[in-house]
Amino acid sequence: MNPSDIEFDLRHIWHPYTSMINPLPAYPVISATGVELLLSDGRQLIDGMSSWWAAIHGYNHSVLNEAAKSQIDKMSHVMFGGITHPPAVELCQQLVAMTPAPLECVFLADSGSVAVEVAMKMALQYWQAKGKKQEKPRQKFLTLRHGYHGDTFGAMSVCDPDNSMHSLYKGYLPSHLFADAPLSRFDGEWQPEDIASFRQLLLQHHAEIAAVILEPIVQGAGGMRIYHPEYLRQVRKLCDEYQILLIADEIATGFGRTGKLFACEHAGIEPDILCLGKALTGGYMTLSATLTTRHVAETISSSEAGCFMHGPTFMANPLACAVASASLKLLAESPWQQRIQLIETQLKRELLPLKTHDAVEDVRVLGAIGVVEMKQPVDVASIQRHFVQQGVWIRPFGRLIYLMPPYIIRPEQLSKLTGAIASAIN
Ligand SMILES: *Cc1c(COP(=O)(O)O)cnc(C)c1O
Repeated sequence: MNPSDIEFDLRHIWHPYTSMINPLPAYPVISATGVELLLSDGRQLIDGMSSWWAAIHGYNHSVLNEAAKSQIDKMSHVMFGGITHPPAVELCQQLVAMTPAPLECVFLADSGSVAVEVAMKMALQYWQAKGKKQEKPRQKFLTLRHGYHGDTFGAMSVCDPDNSMHSLYKGYLPSHLFADAPLSRFDGEWQPEDIASFRQLLLQHHAEIAAVILEPIVQGAGGMRIYHPEYLRQVRKLCDEYQILLIADEIATGFGRTGKLFACEHAGIEPDILCLGKALTGGYMTLSATLTTRHVAETISSSEAGCFMHGPTFMANPLACAVASASLKLLAESPWQQRIQLIETQLKRELLPLKTHDAVEDVRVLGAIGVVEMKQPVDVASIQRHFVQQGVWIRPFGRLIYLMPPYIIRPEQLSKLTGAIASAIN
């Protein structure tokens, strides 16, 4: 890429959460293969981010490329209203088979945020359909502090209330209920008082709550917190007691990242609605899925509307479905449990010692996720420059430097990532 194109980018193109007045640098990547990104100046960077949880098999994978090419020669897209097609049916068969048995109805949409909107609308329409007997409309969602569920309005309204999004859109966002996030660590002791705030809110407000929505086990973009499975079991029990729907947002945690295919499995619980995205297509293109039970789907369909009121233009895009389907097959046929186990062991060995560093607040590892939480916010521009000089791609935010590499990463490549973090904080 020539300098004038980079200049154009800085001047005209928005990047995620980036100023148009004083933008952070954007590194020009011209291709990516395996776990390496190629910069336009010829430098190779080992990827520690999987392009935000998505590229689990690495980049430019021959099997996924082939799936895209063979589908593109049949059709790239066709509307889903009144039409179906093999890639959608095959993908949904796989999703229904690999998720908990009660989840058998699939809604395909464009992105993770939209999957969350769909889940929330399902919960609202479910209670509307059951309506009449209810006294108050059930329109509140109960969720956890430090959560992240996406950037569209419904999703934002259940993100952590204390990060800037809520204050920015105050008065425009519906107000929901926020329980304290669990403090019990995944690998630590369960502290029973952790559930107190959640239980209290449920007790007080259950008659107006449509659903609980949370990220099981790992709270991602809201702080990379990894919590105790007992919390989830208690949430499931309380939702059952009060007959409230449980939405599990596994957009980040799905497809093996935490060491289980889905993070809910750490607690042995099943949600009523499940949101999937990110790694669904192996990081090739945007696609999401919201799954629910036959009971929820049929209740919604028995409402006055007679159907679920959502239908994106690019719903079930055949190209995305074909790649997703190939990606899930690839995952199933790979030794992913063993790979994640090895990544976890190595992340623990190489990152946990940083805990004793003065500038480090905490280090935590689960599956193929490694988090170094600093005491102070990191200077993203300068630390990024350091990482690129070290030949790695790691994108910190706030006080968090974290890794979630493609599952195919080799030990010496992973060591390069952890070594770069160690050298950055020293
Ligand atoms: C990324 C993410 C989303 C939003 O997905 P997009 O595809 O970015 O819209 C929602 N929930 C969780 C848990 C996520 O990590």
